[in-house]
Amino acid sequence: MSFQGIPVLNYHAIDNTGNMSPSRNVSVSLASFKEQVEWLHKEGYKPLMEEELRSVVLAGKPPAGKRVLVTFDDGYLSLYEYALDILSRNGFTATLFLSTSFIGKPYEQNDFGFVNHDRQLTWDEIKTLSAAGWSIQSHGYNHIRLNSMDTEAIIKEVTLSKSIIEQNLGKPVHSFAFPYGIYTNKVIQQLKAAGYTFAYSVHSGKLFPRASKFQLPRIEINNMDTMDTFITKVTTGYISPSIGRRAKVRDIIYANPAVKDFIERFTPMFGFGNH
Ligand SMILES: [Zn+2]
Repeated sequence: MSFQGIPVLNYHAIDNTGNMSPSRNVSVSLASFKEQVEWLHKEGYKPLMEEELRSVVLAGKPPAGKRVLVTFDDGYLSLYEYALDILSRNGFTATLFLSTSFIGKPYEQNDFGFVNHDRQLTWDEIKTLSAAGWSIQSHGYNHIRLNSMDTEAIIKEVTLSKSIIEQNLGKPVHSFAFPYGIYTNKVIQQLKAAGYTFAYSVHSGKLFPRASKFQLPRIEINNMDTMDTFITKVTTGYISPSIGRRAKVRDIIYANPAVKDFIERFTPMFGFGNH
């Protein structure tokens, strides 16, 4: 069978409060998360390791067997409380994209209201995840929309977060996940200048060899997903065939991020947005 691609799953918080209203959309309930990870294990998925990501994306070599890359954005306490144990028991690690200005603190931005029972991880907790094999990468410093920032502010966001994580963990940071999935060509240029190798978008679809290294796809998993939609997303990369067809057109047009900038700025009605 030909290589089927790698689902890169994008999670945020794990919610054990039972409050799964739409405003908490990006959290996934503890029960659902457990069921999803156990399904991946039962189906024979293995984690994609960092070195393998390099050989897939840079050298174009598909890995052996079924692989999955589990990612979390922001850095919630619930990852330490629940995700670490569930993933470890099933043979998985994860990549955490951390916004470094909130370490150990409650989230003070309105955007984080949906998880106001949660707080961000402390360095001790982050070190435990790192020691368990999790890769800790950058999600910027202040978790801001980078398309609205001037060059100097973008440089600060991408360099400060990288150096803070490297100093605290003593391990290199080479990947960035765009806050809100928002990116422009200017942001990509600054990531390259700061020494990053990869950046993750929230464009749906699976990861294939020689994927665009600063626009890697991720499939968002949220609390609207049933087990059926989760399986559809993991196996096809999309929630439905029509979304998949639209996304493939997007990938061709947005292959040049300068073209994306132009469309989003001058003819936004023809754009695809950041999802
Ligand atoms: Zn985020």
